[in-house]
Amino acid sequence: MAGLMQDRPLSLPHVFHRAEMLFADKEIVTATASGERRSTYGECFERVRRLAAALDRLDVPAEARVGTFCSNTQTHLELYFAVPCSGRVLHTINIRLFPDQLAFVVADAQDDVVFVDRALLPALWQVADRMPSVRHIVVIDDGSNEAVPDDPRVVDYETLLAGGPPRSGRFVIDDENSAAALCYTSGTTGDPKGVLYSHRSTVLHSLTSLAADVLAIGERDRVQPVVPMFHVNAWGLPYTAVLAGANLILPGTQTAPGELLAQIERHRVTISAGVPTIWMGALPLLHEHDLSSLRMVLCGGAAVPQSLSEGWRAAIGLPITQAWGMTETSPICTVGVLRSADNELDDEERARLRATQGRPVPLFDLRLVNPETGAEQPWDGVSAGELQAAGPWIASGYLNGSGADAFTDDGWLRTGDIATVDPRGYLNLVDRTKDLVKSGGEWISSVTLENHIMGHPAVAEAAVVAKPDPRWSERPVAFVVPRDDARLTTDDVLAHLRPLVPKWWLPDEVHFVDALPKTGTGKFAKRVLRARLDAIVPEGST
Ligand code: AMP
Repeated sequence: MAGLMQDRPLSLPHVFHRAEMLFADKEIVTATASGERRSTYGECFERVRRLAAALDRLDVPAEARVGTFCSNTQTHLELYFAVPCSGRVLHTINIRLFPDQLAFVVADAQDDVVFVDRALLPALWQVADRMPSVRHIVVIDDGSNEAVPDDPRVVDYETLLAGGPPRSGRFVIDDENSAAALCYTSGTTGDPKGVLYSHRSTVLHSLTSLAADVLAIGERDRVQPVVPMFHVNAWGLPYTAVLAGANLILPGTQTAPGELLAQIERHRVTISAGVPTIWMGALPLLHEHDLSSLRMVLCGGAAVPQSLSEGWRAAIGLPITQAWGMTETSPICTVGVLRSADNELDDEERARLRATQGRPVPLFDLRLVNPETGAEQPWDGVSAGELQAAGPWIASGYLNGSGADAFTDDGWLRTGDIATVDPRGYLNLVDRTKDLVKSGGEWISSVTLENHIMGHPAVAEAAVVAKPDPRWSERPVAFVVPRDDARLTTDDVLAHLRPLVPKWWLPDEVHFVDALPKTGTGKFAKRVLRARLDAIVPEGST
């Protein structure tokens, strides 16, 4: 028997129109190099309507991908709503991509238009000749003085908005499963893969984030997403905050730890969110600010060391709340909000629980699968298995059909993380099968680094592994086997890599070895290398 309830689409236009009606007086603050920009939701949303009309005037078709190459700003928020509410797909491009990857994602997405902060124009312009699908490049004047190239594709954002009346009436998205946003994740081969969020997944993810035992975001909150808006929609926070009617406090380009803390203090931020590197950098400065408004400091993207969370607790009385997720999972799936019973535990035990990745949020299912046998592992806190994920905001595939092996036959996402879960549901990540290094919240492909290093004529073999790093979470370390009699130095390897990869990808250490350990199937035994990392003495390096 079918239920007799209305089948109304879960779509971003609902979020937008509700906020337009109920929260027009709420505030959006963006830090700028020269001060700050303040707007009400009402003012911002009028610009959203202007932007939607401007996309029509530019003849951007329905479902076309609209790229953004922007910091966390109000303008980026305008794009977050105007693009999907008007039936296009928001493609948030990672501003730290190396030119080849940048050209790849724009081509893979077939972006029709790209919006770019003026300060970021030089980075985008490196591939301006390799973006055949892009008809317009809309430059957002952020007060920087980067030269704007004389190119027929270039359009000024404010001129565009002023070019006609705003869209009137309601935005309509009939199919809640239609695509709203696109974000690329890195792959082991180095080619990023597109994750396509739907209106429905975005609304459900936002709604769950509001829940009391998740982020408990409400209208009274002042939310500061430090995590970039090009990284998994800043963990969904811009949408969640607008759904709740919370003030949004955006750091723009002012992301140094002292600037972030000053913004928290000035605007009485209640919840902030960023990767461990950010909160590690802020730790020594906490005593210089009044941070008493904070009720949650959310942290994920990489493991949160117990010492970091406890450092915050010692300094301001508030430990860090850890969450786990991925680009493929929208991202929030587990959050370290302790159970009431666990709040009775002693400080040390609670600190240990907060160093786990937390417990599954509503509507999210996880299971642990033994990679060898395929058997599901018990939640006993000891048995480790690959973490597999299912739920209404978990990807079912990648754009253009790539990476199909990331999904099981019964439709679960293989996360590439190895974990245990204890009987209370606390997730603990213990290893990773993905051949990637996560530095400062961004991926470095070890396979790409290895291939480049092995491209050096004096190198026989090379393997790159992640080394734990207190500041960046992880840094790449290379093990290199030189060819017979070749004299090779660390500087030779780094000089060879420099033109090929972003500067922040360069390995922190290069160890020269006679041979690399291999697995039964002939692959580099990275687990062995990681375990030996401290023991191996560099040979032949100068
Ligand atoms: P991304 O798709 O870039 O967001 O990266 C997702 C991956 O980051 C996960 O599969 C994990 O490997 C890692 N990750 C995310 N959150 C955490 C966390 N709290 N602790 C440890 N690793 C994490």
